[in-house]
Amino acid sequence: MEKWPSIKQEAGKTEHQEENGKDFGKWRIDEIISPTIKEKILTVKQIHGGNIGKAEQVVPGETEADGILITNESGIIAGISTADCAPVIILTENKAIALHVSRKTLVNGQMDNVLNYLEPKEIDYIYVGPHICEYHFSFLREEYMLRRFRLRFGRATHWHHGSIYLSLKVALQYFFNDWDIHPNKIYYDGRCTYEMLMLPSYRRRLDTGRAEEVKDFLTTVRRRGVT
Ligand SMILES: [Zn+2]
Repeated sequence: MEKWPSIKQEAGKTEHQEENGKDFGKWRIDEIISPTIKEKILTVKQIHGGNIGKAEQVVPGETEADGILITNESGIIAGISTADCAPVIILTENKAIALHVSRKTLVNGQMDNVLNYLEPKEIDYIYVGPHICEYHFSFLREEYMLRRFRLRFGRATHWHHGSIYLSLKVALQYFFNDWDIHPNKIYYDGRCTYEMLMLPSYRRRLDTGRAEEVKDFLTTVRRRGVT
């Protein structure tokens, strides 16, 4: 697949709505930095859980979920907000599931829940958006949720100088392997939010203590032609 168009880096650009889009078959995925127009985009209240809301049943911004399912006919644009977590979008001929993937959603059964809405063999594309890379995603202490993450996704963890490091990408691959998804169907954006100053990063904000300009980052999915 072709590369995602690079984000324009001219000064001041992030103050305005930025859209970078890519088509995946009949679907379109956009990334929007510091969105100014949100009314048309359906979002949920993300709580690091396993719930996936059907778009027609979602109360915008209020339904607690970390995934949104839209269908072919819905005419809805679904948006996932992230700042280090991974925006992941799973596409079939007739359905799209937009997910906010974090270490906690993975432990809370979010990806398992996907299979309640589609069959792996239906999947045409999987998009894995920018998220914090494993070298920037570490913890000094292994609390309960981290231990559960390590026990389930061992290959997605490593220890270094007393800290545990996590790879969301490798954890996701557990599912993609289990679902027997051909690697050609998976698009990895590859950018680390911590390293990309254009993208919001919760960790970077904690580490630097700087109140940054870029606060909001949405990944949206829509049927091509839906505006
Ligand atoms: Zn990184």
